[in-house]
Amino acid sequence: MRRSGFLMTEPDIASSDGSNIQLRMERKGDHYLLNGSKWWSSGAGDDRCKIFIVMGKTDPNNPDRFRQQSMMLVPAGTPGITVHRMLSVYGYDDAPHGHGHVTFENVKVPLDALILGEGRGNEIMQGRLGPGRIHHCMRAIGAAEVALEWMIHRMWDDRKIPFGKPLREHGVLIDWVARARMEIDASRLVVLNAAIKIDQKDAKFALKEIAEVSYFPILVRRVMLMDCAGQGHGPNNVSYHHRPRRPGPRCRWCVPGHTSC
Ligand SMILES: Cc1cc2nc3c(=O)[nH]c(=O)nc-3n(C[C@H](O)[C@H](O)[C@H](O)COP(=O)(O)OP(=O)(O)OC[C@H]3O[C@@H](n4cnc5c(N)ncnc54)[C@H](O)[C@@H]3O)c2cc1C
Repeated sequence: MRRSGFLMTEPDIASSDGSNIQLRMERKGDHYLLNGSKWWSSGAGDDRCKIFIVMGKTDPNNPDRFRQQSMMLVPAGTPGITVHRMLSVYGYDDAPHGHGHVTFENVKVPLDALILGEGRGNEIMQGRLGPGRIHHCMRAIGAAEVALEWMIHRMWDDRKIPFGKPLREHGVLIDWVARARMEIDASRLVVLNAAIKIDQKDAKFALKEIAEVSYFPILVRRVMLMDCAGQGHGPNNVSYHHRPRRPGPRCRWCVPGHTSC
């Protein structure tokens, strides 16, 4: 199965503001020339990743800074593209998926590689990221659910008897489980509400509901990394040899600093 990578984030600018994107897409007769640098390009490390969706600037002098960018479909093997390395997430390279650091040096791309039209890059990005948020929230909720499951499993481990009683009889752990259950359920309902609104019309119609779901992965991150998968597992919390640490890195939205989607 073929896959694609979405290349927006750049090393030298604040990429959470799409209007900052610098990769140059210069029209030269019957083609564009692409020059610039991208990183955190998820999927770039995978052999099946055959096409890059690249965001860049076709019109850097446009007074409307949200009309300067465009998006193009660029085959991953086009001459001038170099995938330098995979960036690690909490020490993992996430192979074969991989988050690549990719450069473009005089990459020649035909005019029909342009998606939708020149200057419409930000528009495409916003259209994609709204529903994308829902998708990431669903994954975050799934990961939190697994973390809670592990926590309950640990609490029922009769070899773990601190201060004369099993973990499941310690009030603070019961409190964590109760809160986690409520936060996960609340998150799921908010995500469902946003999804229903998108289905009723489109992402723009669901702007407020999509903004609401953005808040919940933070709660879910606390469930996963701190209380349940984290604190409840003692030192396994800080060890990459143990499962509880994994849901965080596996789930993009749970990585501090991931803001664009
Ligand atoms: C695992 C992983 C996978 C990724 N995959 C991809 C991918 O496939 N394609 C891609 O293009 N990018 C990807 N990214 C990159 C990610 O989307 C960017 O890191 C993000 O857009 C932030 O851009 P930046 O790193 O330039 O940070 P900056 O824009 O410099 O922002 C730095 C920090 O400032 C804060 N901040 C920024 N804006 C605001 C605001 N409006 N309000 C409050 N705080 C704010 C946030 O904490 C943010 O993390 C990935 C990142 C990770 C961690």
